[in-house]
Amino acid sequence: MPQPPQNRQIHLISRPSGLPSLENFKLCINQVPEIKKNEILIRVHYLSVDPYMRGRIGGRRSSHPPFPINQPANGDGVGQVVQSNHPDFHTGDFVSGYLDWADYSIASADQLWKFNPNEISPTTALSVLGMPAMTAYFGLLDIGKPQTGETIAISAAAGAVGMIVGQIAKIKGCHVIGIAGGDTKIQYLLKELQFDGAVNYKKSDWAQTLHAACPEGIDIYFDNVGGTITDEAMKLLNRHARVVLCGQISSYNLEQPDIGPRNFRHLIVKSAMAKGFLVIPDYKHRFQEGRDQLLEWLKQKKIKPYETITQGLENIPKAFLGLFSGENLGKQLVQV
Ligand code: NAP
Repeated sequence: MPQPPQNRQIHLISRPSGLPSLENFKLCINQVPEIKKNEILIRVHYLSVDPYMRGRIGGRRSSHPPFPINQPANGDGVGQVVQSNHPDFHTGDFVSGYLDWADYSIASADQLWKFNPNEISPTTALSVLGMPAMTAYFGLLDIGKPQTGETIAISAAAGAVGMIVGQIAKIKGCHVIGIAGGDTKIQYLLKELQFDGAVNYKKSDWAQTLHAACPEGIDIYFDNVGGTITDEAMKLLNRHARVVLCGQISSYNLEQPDIGPRNFRHLIVKSAMAKGFLVIPDYKHRFQEGRDQLLEWLKQKKIKPYETITQGLENIPKAFLGLFSGENLGKQLVQV
């Protein structure tokens, strides 16, 4: 296949303090890269933007290295092989893996997961079968350990992780309460996903609504947000409750740590447990198990996918920034 002459890429050109802005990114045009031995060239179709990238943009080292300045940013994506120097990958294969924010990206075979597009749609590979879904699956089942009849409260419940947590918790027979911002999200959780309750934290009486929605208290709190939402949820913990510390998005753009009420007392008096985790690396070796189960639930229509898809590679920074103002319902993707 003749190679197209150019490759659009989104580079990080400066590191923000506080909330990032579009000025921190730049659309650059380069040549399509040449592949070396064992490498694979991929035409990128969809890219995922995720809150953890805020740390990479800021230069913080956590599970992933910082994005270098003046080079393409990267993250989970799907695409099709256009050229391969590896025997297991052929032109036309659909793959998911770590890809540049670009039209074309090079990957090595060990970074890629090949899937059948007749069985799994490319966007599903990034949503119900992608990294956030693995986070939901292992965080809930391994740490939350849901039991039938228990109450679970989930913050950022209408997002990529939260939506899957809630649906798995329903499968496990839990009483599921979602916390999210805005009426559209609340209606989606109640009507489409059949959550038992949903709390719009942008309303002034949200704390009372949360208490009213959990008359039996909270057995599992799946925390994606932190801050005042978590302060309130902690007050409702039951004896032997489990707090799954998944994310703290409310503090990702703060320059100074947000010191709120010290809530550990609630853990002591309820003999409760709070545990943090990083899905990569903690559960990377079990992703296939998670994918197999989620795919089965998807086929049985026990789990519904939902993606917000922004059009155009050039709009990746905008889609990323939208995560911090709640623009997305479900998994935020960009169609390149
Ligand atoms: P997401 O929920 O799809 O998108 C982020 C959502 O967070 C937004 O839609 C917004 O929803 C909410 N939000 C943003 N700023 C907020 C604030 N100040 N207060 C309250 N809510 C706010 O993102 P995701 O990919 O599913 O990730 C959810 C969380 O899990 C993030 O904290 C992320 O860092 C974490 N995470 C952790 C791991 C891990 O391995 N531990 C892996 C993946 C993700 P509303 O409209 O409802 O405000």
